Amino acid sequence: MDNKAFFKLSYGLFLAGVEYQQKYNACIINTASQATSSPPVMLATMLKSNLTTELFLSKKSMNISVISQNCSLDVINHFGLNSGRDIDKFENTSFAVDKYKNPFIEEGMNARFVCTLNTAKELSTHYLFILDVENSFVLSDEKPMTYADYRVMKNNSDRLIKSSNRSWVCSICHYVYDGATPFEELDENYKCPVCGKGKEYFICET
Ligand code: FE
Repeated sequence: MDNKAFFKLSYGLFLAGVEYQQKYNACIINTASQATSSPPVMLATMLKSNLTTELFLSKKSMNISVISQNCSLDVINHFGLNSGRDIDKFENTSFAVDKYKNPFIEEGMNARFVCTLNTAKELSTHYLFILDVENSFVLSDEKPMTYADYRVMKNNSDRLIKSSNRSWVCSICHYVYDGATPFEELDENYKCPVCGKGKEYFICET
């Protein structure tokens, strides 16, 4: 199997927000799509170990916002690279809530969906969620950001920051490793924080 084939699939970039028992959290996902229009149903996969996933399984409703091309890398990194178990991601972020009290931000987003859980299918590292869309909003005419757009933006940013421009990229989800420890020195048990795959799935790009 050539894992690079997965690079040929197109993915978007989304912010999934949930509130449960006064805990507000949101994470970045790259797998959300429309399944059917009538009734309006979406699909999303989320890493089992994510706090947002855990909150959603209890709450059974969430917001999914479509990240647009004018969204700053800081916002994506803030919600994508931190864990809500370590920090309150909304502490210094102005946000609003929907009728379920689930949090969302509008800056850098071009659409938002209010979703409720229809079915959760357990996969190895993720849950596949079938979501009933209760409401949807267009927020701007900005184009949606694809995961490929994000990678280009992030690689350009990394190149400015690092003197070395070698980067290790997850061949499954395209996550670019950016930890302080050199990738080669990471523990063999290292797992991709986005899709949960091991070190052997990473490809060195120069
Ligand atoms: Fe990955």
